[in-house]
Amino acid sequence: MSNLPIKQLVHDVLFQLQDCEPAQLISCLNCRQAITANNYRTRIHDQHHHRFVNPDGIIYDVCCFNAAPGTIINGEAMTQYCWFQGYRWQYAHCEHCADQLGWYYENDRNESFFALIPSSLRTKN
Ligand SMILES: [Zn+2]
Repeated sequence: MSNLPIKQLVHDVLFQLQDCEPAQLISCLNCRQAITANNYRTRIHDQHHHRFVNPDGIIYDVCCFNAAPGTIINGEAMTQYCWFQGYRWQYAHCEHCADQLGWYYENDRNESFFALIPSSLRTKN
């Protein structure tokens, strides 16, 4: 968690997301903080939505985004158990409530994206 006051955090996020229509914003399901927006949706390996099964048989659904200004990136960059070949991953948490919303991926060519868990997000209609 950042030490910045929450109001400042919200302001910063809204600033980065200000070009987005309110209906396009995607928020944290837990605390409603703006996380990303529909226009940041992207395709990685030709797919926006990916489904992975971990070694314990647990299914993870993720959707890929170019940016997620409402998250903070935590932890060391890891290559172990990486779902996207050639990338390193870190955790992506909600900047406001610290819930894990997915993962941040980056490769040696400075290409990066977020893989976020749709069931942890709220899409306004
Ligand atoms: Zn949150």
